[in-house]
Amino acid sequence: MLIENIKKHQKNLRACRKCKAMIPPVITCLPVASKIILIGQAPGEREGDLGRPFAWTAGKTLFKWFASIGLDEEVVRHQVYIAAVCRCFPGKNPKGGDRVPSRVEIQNCKTWLQEEFELLEPELVILVGKLAIEQFLEVDRLVDVVGKTFRKDVDGRLVDIVPLPHPSGASTWHVMLPGKDLLHQALSIIERHPAWQALL
Ligand code: SF4
Repeated sequence: MLIENIKKHQKNLRACRKCKAMIPPVITCLPVASKIILIGQAPGEREGDLGRPFAWTAGKTLFKWFASIGLDEEVVRHQVYIAAVCRCFPGKNPKGGDRVPSRVEIQNCKTWLQEEFELLEPELVILVGKLAIEQFLEVDRLVDVVGKTFRKDVDGRLVDIVPLPHPSGASTWHVMLPGKDLLHQALSIIERHPAWQALL
């Protein structure tokens, strides 16, 4: 029943065209009844063709991180619900990189995430990158939050929140100190979490 409800939710989500500046298709993950939700920023330009989140270079790094704590890419894709702050490609920023979604677009897409929280009742929320982190925690600098767990009430439900840096090749934060050590600490926290342990 839960899987059927998740499939129905994703079908409605894929039909969403609320944000006129966003470039479809809407990218959804596998319909997974997971106690872990991972929230990224927004799909890049390759995800539309490939039809799944984190399908290109950032994903390669992200899944390498998870393999280092026991779960390879296909297991993660089949066991962890992969969401995002926005589910459509925002387009390119003329100054370089991808356009950061607007406040209105983030608000529009939040309703889909709220439905997913209601359906899945997650225990562990993994936030990937500053835009995702900012939606749940007050943060100026990644060094203040990566490597820590935050127990927080999200829509009336207590969840453990673990922030990660963005695995984009454009960022060197996670390969230099102190980011490298903090990333290692954050992955250790995820590895020890009961919801992750249940998947090993
Ligand atoms: S970004 Fe989200 S709310 Fe906006 S059109 Fe895409 S799915 Fe809909």
